[in-house]
Amino acid sequence: MEKILVSACLMGHPVRYDGQSKPLAHPAIARWIEEGRLVTICPEMSAGMPVPRPPAEIDGGAAGEDVLAGNARVVEITGGNVTDEFRQAAENALAIATQTGCRYALLIDGSPSCGSGFVYDGTFSGHRLAGNGVTTALLKQAGIGVYSDRDIEALIARLAADEATTGD
Ligand code: SF4
Repeated sequence: MEKILVSACLMGHPVRYDGQSKPLAHPAIARWIEEGRLVTICPEMSAGMPVPRPPAEIDGGAAGEDVLAGNARVVEITGGNVTDEFRQAAENALAIATQTGCRYALLIDGSPSCGSGFVYDGTFSGHRLAGNGVTTALLKQAGIGVYSDRDIEALIARLAADEATTGD
């Protein structure tokens, strides 16, 4: 049975920068919990970041891949440089995914860690850019299929296709 790495805030844990969660209401979530498929992590908290914390964005219109390559920083709205924490967060998420055998991840979009369809451009003005957060970039580099919360139907279809093939 395929395990799925999932953003803790999507599971209703109040771990976002503002102390809130962003639970995803979908019948598949309840089914996956019952099946024991889900491996929940907040990458940023796993790296020791507090709740609440200042909002952070990838600087300069860059993406998670640029942060991993050492070519971009992650900065807080207050000016703090949290690049190292975000890289550690990504490494922690990949370590958990590897230890638990997750080949797929369901992560909330827009986050500088967990985003996969878009991230914000570093100006803290609400402007979006297509791209991956830091955790998503590292997971993808490791071959893990990352789906955003908006793409849960595509993940369901992928799991069904895989399990039809393997008989799992
Ligand atoms: Fe949610 Fe990911 Fe941000 Fe943690 S790092 S609060 S799981 S989006």
